[in-house]
Amino acid sequence: MAGANERTIDCNKASLAGSVSQRACVFCGSRVVLYPIVDALHIIHGPIGCAAYTWDIRGSLSSGPELHRLSYCTDLQERDVIFGGEPKLYKSIIELIDLHKPKAAFIYTTCIVGVIGDDVEQICRTVAKEKGIPIIPVQAPGFQGSKKDGYKVACEAIFTLVGTKSKPFTPAKSINILGDFNLAGELWILLEYYKKMGVHVNATITGDGRVDDICNAHNAALNVVQCSGSMNYLAKMMKDEYNIPSMRVSYFGIEDMSDALYDVARFFKDDDMMAKARELVKEEFARLMPELTWYKERLTGKKAAIYVGGAFKAISLVKALRLIGVESVIVGSQTGTTEDYELIKQLCDEGTIIVDDSNPVELSHFVKEKKADIFIGGVKERPIAHKIGLGFCDHNHERKEPLAGYEGMINFAKEIYATAMSPVWKFTK
Ligand code: SF4
Repeated sequence: MAGANERTIDCNKASLAGSVSQRACVFCGSRVVLYPIVDALHIIHGPIGCAAYTWDIRGSLSSGPELHRLSYCTDLQERDVIFGGEPKLYKSIIELIDLHKPKAAFIYTTCIVGVIGDDVEQICRTVAKEKGIPIIPVQAPGFQGSKKDGYKVACEAIFTLVGTKSKPFTPAKSINILGDFNLAGELWILLEYYKKMGVHVNATITGDGRVDDICNAHNAALNVVQCSGSMNYLAKMMKDEYNIPSMRVSYFGIEDMSDALYDVARFFKDDDMMAKARELVKEEFARLMPELTWYKERLTGKKAAIYVGGAFKAISLVKALRLIGVESVIVGSQTGTTEDYELIKQLCDEGTIIVDDSNPVELSHFVKEKKADIFIGGVKERPIAHKIGLGFCDHNHERKEPLAGYEGMINFAKEIYATAMSPVWKFTK
């Protein structure tokens, strides 16, 4: 709980077996990170259930190819499990490369491949030689840990591409955006802001991602990392190998969005860039505040429960909700660290329940205890909210509404208002 108690949270550990954790598996973690690389082939080596579970898993939009939306799978059957699935995998990769002519291919291994021990790396090496494109094994058997381990596996897969090609010219004041997945086109909103400031965006990893841009990512001056839970590891590897510094930002809520722009201008020590950032923030504030004040007057006194994947997002949500008068009474995440939870503790009011790696029973209990009016979470939290008869705001990777940037803040306020104030809830309780 936030407030006077001095206890630190127990986090960053494997889930207790049998606890029915809200966390996803390693394979799912790797899939959500790599999915938005739109000109690559994504092949799942495993049973069809793994592919169905992660089919079109993000609302990530593409400004060009849409190869990422096709979730191919080797559909392993009993016979393959007994005699091995290698021939099937080899044949599938060759056939799909001939069909789609992708820039690269990611081959995901799943639980059953981890058990039967197919040599996926060898097949990837063989096909890469034959076809002349990177074929990257993503070693992600679901049982090997949690979603967070999948993030690490995905970072390792991306890192095999970084530095393998250079474009003829990369501007000096250029950044890579890490950890924005272009949900509902959010990345395009950010690109506009950076363009107005005179910042060149070199590679977007992985929202609306392109293999060639990722290969050239080592030529950027700075890595700007949003979803730090998933991308810090890649930023660290790029720092060690290419000496590219990184900064952690959040694009949710006015305060954090503005800080993200200022921090980039500060990094480049460019007065003109900073002046443009200030101008942009001033204009957006003037445009947004009257509308947000309207929502605040009506929402003050409402209580929210937050349970999301990354703790950094939870921190931004607490600030954004406060701006529209909503108190956060439960704040939790699947993958937060001790430092993240310490920040949340400082930010939240006395009595807020702070929780790591929860399960449906616990969450339902907390929500009832704190009398929350709205639940903000992802696909697995939606049924919990609806079963209790509570409004739900989808802030996860499937959503179709941009919630990042200044436009996103208005959309967020609208959604919270429409949901929390809906008369339907009085009939469900
Ligand atoms: S836990 Fe294993 S079987 Fe289930 S989706 Fe993940 S990789 Fe597939």
